[in-house]
Amino acid sequence: GTQQSDEHRLPRYVRVNTLKTTVEDVMDYVKRDGFTYLGEAVRLDDLNLKGKKFVRDLHLPELLAFPPKTDFHDHFLYKAGHIILQDKASCLPAHLLNPPPGSHVVDACAAPGNKTSHLAAIMRNTGRLFAFDLDAQRLATMSTLLLRAGLTCHQLANQDFLKVDPDSPQYKDVEYVLLDPSCSGSGMVCLRDNATADQKEEEEEARLARLASFQLRCLNHGLRFPRLKRLVYSTCSIHRQENEEVVAACLQQNPSFRLVHLLPQWPERGLEPLPQCLRASATKTLTHGFFVALLEKHSAAASAKQ
Ligand code: SAM
Repeated sequence: GTQQSDEHRLPRYVRVNTLKTTVEDVMDYVKRDGFTYLGEAVRLDDLNLKGKKFVRDLHLPELLAFPPKTDFHDHFLYKAGHIILQDKASCLPAHLLNPPPGSHVVDACAAPGNKTSHLAAIMRNTGRLFAFDLDAQRLATMSTLLLRAGLTCHQLANQDFLKVDPDSPQYKDVEYVLLDPSCSGSGMVCLRDNATADQKEEEEEARLARLASFQLRCLNHGLRFPRLKRLVYSTCSIHRQENEEVVAACLQQNPSFRLVHLLPQWPERGLEPLPQCLRASATKTLTHGFFVALLEKHSAAASAKQ
């Protein structure tokens, strides 16, 4: 279908793993492999490439874009953990949360760990990164991945995030949370075809309601870390029920948090009334379908005025 062809039209994004190498070294390596560097993209259309060409992305500093279907899975740079094959939209949460080196961070639903490794790169492998996942199998894959990526600041736990005690002394310095919970996956252009076709509409509605209620519980739970400054929430869903509606309900229940207005130059915004948030799609941002919200705690001064 058309969605299948969308997927094949998306650029191949390559995130440079700065724990192991630099953007310059990766660029030199692929140039020696015969790719021509066209410079830094200045508009979205510059990411539409053909032949052996590549550019640097216009929004994310450690991201390179290659023509659709360029295959790096057998490449040395991939096998050695120097590059991570990650869609551009899925690089947004860690980039926007931007935890400083030395900080304490929670990755609530972390496997297979692409965002965990991105967080660690931003933290320069310092501080503490507490990563949780319910699924032991996915966690096993994740620990292999993180080893290859050179992470040393993380602590993995096979645990239900909703049962993690935010008041436990080990989390007393946690100021940043990344929450990327299970979702319908409706933004993944390759999955979309079979997802809804033969399913009854009521069944689909019930599934979305169950997911949304889980996502809201995770979000409320994530805000309970006593020293929390910022929480980033993301899904690879295109449904308002899992995105804007979850965030709006959470803000209503947690008046000491507000939304941060994200990347003014980003072309696709959260649906009304949440234009502070970002959306992503094959047509408007040349990525999979995605949603990101960043919540921050009001400063003490700001809350005192209310
Ligand atoms: N952030 C990951 C990444 O970038 O590689 C992808 C996370 S995936 C969208 C959602 C994950 O949440 C799944 O691995 C699933 O096993 C996990 N999960 C579901 N319920 C959970 C819970 N209650 N506590 C912790 N993890 C959970």
